[in-house]
Formats: sequence, C-alpha cells, structure tokens
Amino acid sequence: MALIVQKFGGSSVGTIERIHHVASKVMHTRQEGHEVVVVVSAMQGETDRLIQLAQSLTPEPHPREYDILVSTGEQVSMALLAMALNAQNIPARSFTGHQIGILTDSSHTKARILNVKTETIKKSLADGFIVIVAGFQGINEHGDITTLGRGGSDTTAVALAAALKAEECQIYTDVEGVYTTDPRMLPEARLLPQISFEEMLEMSSLGAKVLQMRSVELASKHNLPIRVRSTFSDNPGTLVTFEEKIMQKRLVSGIAFSREEALIALTGVPNQAGVEGHILSKISDASIEIDMIAQNATDKEATDFTFTVSRKDYPKALATVQELADELGAVSPRCNPKVAKLSLVGIGMRSHAGVASNMFRALGNAGINIQMITTSEIKISVVIDEDSLDRGVRAVHEAFELDKLPLEKQQAFME
Ligand code: ASP
Ligand code: MG
Repeated sequence: MALIVQKFGGSSVGTIERIHHVASKVMHTRQEGHEVVVVVSAMQGETDRLIQLAQSLTPEPHPREYDILVSTGEQVSMALLAMALNAQNIPARSFTGHQIGILTDSSHTKARILNVKTETIKKSLADGFIVIVAGFQGINEHGDITTLGRGGSDTTAVALAAALKAEECQIYTDVEGVYTTDPRMLPEARLLPQISFEEMLEMSSLGAKVLQMRSVELASKHNLPIRVRSTFSDNPGTLVTFEEKIMQKRLVSGIAFSREEALIALTGVPNQAGVEGHILSKISDASIEIDMIAQNATDKEATDFTFTVSRKDYPKALATVQELADELGAVSPRCNPKVAKLSLVGIGMRSHAGVASNMFRALGNAGINIQMITTSEIKISVVIDEDSLDRGVRAVHEAFELDKLPLEKQQAFME
C-alpha cells in the first residue's frame, strides 16, 4: 500500500459530471489498496470570475481581501468531490489549507509555503477517509488566508506529497502530459514520456503552463518525481524526474515560447562603470520586471543595452527609458513592442556543440530575423517578431526532429 497524492486541475473538476469522473478515478486508486490524498483546483473559470468581480469593484483590491475572495473557488470543488465520493459510499473528507495547517509567508497573492502539518491528514487517512485538500491556499502567521499565485494548486500537491513522503505525486490535467511544444499551436508536437526537473523548470519559466514553476522547484528540492497525466485517459503521461533517471537522453526536449513581450534597446549608452546598475535600478524603481538583457560595447565610448519586458509594462518602461536616454545623453531608444520569445530547451546541449547554429539556421531559412539572443547551459532563447512566432516554432521543431518520436532519429544528433 502506497500513499499517493493526486491533484486535479480546474478543467478536471469543471462540471458535476467531471467531478463524478474524478471521484471514480480516486475510488479506483483507493481500490488498488492505496491511501489517497487529493488536491483540487477551483472549477474551471471560477478563479477568473472571482478576480473579475474584485476588479469590477476596485482596480487594486486589498491583498488580504483578494486572497479571501479568490481562495473560495477551491472550497467549492473540494466539498463537491467529497460529496460525490460519499454518495458512492466512499468515506471522504475535505479540508481547507487552514484546517490542514499549510503555513505560508505573508506575501498575499503569491505566498510561499513555509511548513505543512500532517497530523490532520494522517489521522483521517488512518480512520479510512480519502482526504481532499483545497489547492492554492494557505494561512500566514497572523491567521490570514493567503494564496500561492496562479496555478498554485500544483505547488500545494507537491508540498503535501513531500511532507507526507508520498510515493507519487500525480498531476491530472486536460492534456496527456508535457509536450515538445504547445500542441495547440503545433499539432505535430509530441508527448514526452520523461523530462528532467531542470528542463521542466526552464519550460515552465519560459511560458509552458502545464505546471506552476514553483511546484517544479519544490519537487526537485525534495527529490520527488511528478507524473503529469490526463484525467480523461489512462495513459501514463510524462514523468518529471532526475536527469540520471531519464532513459532516452535527448539533445533537446522542447520549445517554449511567450508572446506578450516587448523589446527596448538603448544605443549609445556611455561605456562607463556603473551605468548598467543605474539603468536597471531606474527600471526596477518603476516596478517593471526585466526578462532578457544583452549588452555589448559598440566602440570605446558607447555600448548598446537591450532588454525585454512584459508587454503590459511596455508603456511604463518606455517612459522610464526616455528619461534615462535624456539623462545619459544616449541616442533615443529603439523599440519593438510586438516581439515574442522562443526558447529551445535540452540537457543534451550541455555537452553538444552545434545546437545554436542548427537553431539559427532553421530560423534563417524560414526568413525570420533574430533580434536578440541569450543562452544558458541548457537553453537558447531568441527574440523575434511576434508575427513570425508560429513559423519559428515550426521551423525549430522540424530542425531538431522533435516531431519524430520515438526519437531514434534524433539520436543521430547526439553522436
Ligand atoms: N484556481 C487557481 C488558479 O486558477 C489555482 C490553480 O488552479 O492551481 O490559478
Ligand atoms: Mg494549472
């Protein structure tokens, strides 16, 4: 008998019919002889609806009240699931984050879990109950409800699985698992049977929405593999696990992208110590988060300083940069408010040269101009015009034969 944590996302509990379906899945795991702890998200669309309600009252709701409001969605789905199980004569009990003792810090709307108490869960399991826990919520030291950021139920599930030393953490969703890229954009995208924590972390941070980034961080910290799978099939899905456990090593695993980016380039910035820090502190004083940064000295006197921001911050960033340009005597900024970021991710590139040239060649052959490049050990990101994103993803996907699974063909790249 094993202890299994199963998390069901908003679409999995989106209707009463689907809640019945989830109940039968949970029941099935239980009948296999396992102890089951279930984490649920709010019913699909509910969290958005609550946020809209708040914003229709005031553009900046008080964070404490905001969290009280948006945490209610999970309370509905957890009780409905418990009722559905009880109706089948399966003993089940639902609990809020507060009742369990999911202690977080006080950063409302994006709180971090500090500690998870396990007594209540263990007692209910020992009494023969299936335990259902509200995802996305916790409580701070003052007893106020907090929430963990959008998609935070994944993190609740991983935190519970780690605290309970569960055998497996299963994340049930409406797709079959983690794909080489978003299958809604590229139907040729293939399901990955396995992916490493590190790659998944990059994919999540780069815009793949299948798992909340923090849940991947937490799982890798606790050495806890996560299985992402579909609520609506019996397929095994994708195992997110340690690099050493990956059986079929690939050169690259996937392509992540984000559309809503804007690029700002300051040319003719004085080539002096301290200028970069000055620019960045001005930007962060305006509460703007910078994503990519690149700088290079064009001659002895001047450098180009280029960065990207989220598109919603573009007007604010532009105003700040205009002030900076006047102050630094730099020539006026060159901007592109409609760019996208395309990133190729893979642990194989750590030890193999030629990945970048293959990627850039593919983009070049597709007639796509690269406006900025950044790299890390396992990732290459480029900024391109948003209009060419779909074509770019397709070209790179094809160039690395990600559409050919099993990836025997791709092994050739690794020789
Ligand atoms: N209901 C929350 C959201 O929509 C948390 C979650 O689904 O994980 O972001
Ligand atoms: Mg989610």
